Amino acid sequence: MKKVGHEMTLTERMYLPAITKGLSLTFRHLLGKKITMQYPEETWTKPSGYRGLHKLTKDDKGRPKCVACYMCATACPAECIAIEAEEAPWEDREKHPKRFDIDMLRCIFCGMCVEACPEDAIVMTERTELVAESRAELIYTKEKLLAVEDRVTLTPPRRPLENTR
Ligand code: SF4
Ligand code: SF4
Repeated sequence: MKKVGHEMTLTERMYLPAITKGLSLTFRHLLGKKITMQYPEETWTKPSGYRGLHKLTKDDKGRPKCVACYMCATACPAECIAIEAEEAPWEDREKHPKRFDIDMLRCIFCGMCVEACPEDAIVMTERTELVAESRAELIYTKEKLLAVEDRVTLTPPRRPLENTR
C-alpha cells in the first residue's frame, strides 16, 4: 500500500500498470470458461429440491389429490393460500377444494405448504417463469395450479447447462 503523498513515477502517471492489469483481466475472461447463457433457450440445471412454482397433483384417476384439509393454508407464513372446501363427489374422500388460490405475489417460496400436506397434493416444480401483465394473473387458481407442468417446453427446445457456480 502506497503512503499518502507518494510521488507518482512517470510510468504510473501514464497509467501503464493499471492499463496492463485491466487488459490482462479482460483477456483472462475472454479465454476462460464461458458463463453467459442464452436464456430462455438455455437455462441452469436446477438443484434437486429447488422451490419453484407450485403445482397441484392428481391421483391415478386424474382427480386432484387435495382433500381440502387446510393444512397448507394454516402452515403458510405469508397467508397467501385461500381454500374453499366443498363436499367431494367421490366416495373415497369427504371434501375437495371448490376454490384453491395461491397469491404468487405474496408467496415467499418457503415450501412449508408442501411440508404440511398429508396427501402430497401440492408440490413445487423447478419452474421460475412468473410473467404476468396484471396482479390478478399472479393469483394461481386451482385450475391453473393443476395445469402447471414441471418444466417449460420451449421452441426450440432449451439446452440445459451444468450449473457452473
Ligand atoms: S411456499 Fe411458503 S409462502 Fe408460498 S404458499 Fe407455500 S407456504 Fe405459503
Ligand atoms: S394441498 Fe394438501 S395440505 Fe393443502 S388443503 Fe390440499 S390436501 Fe390439505
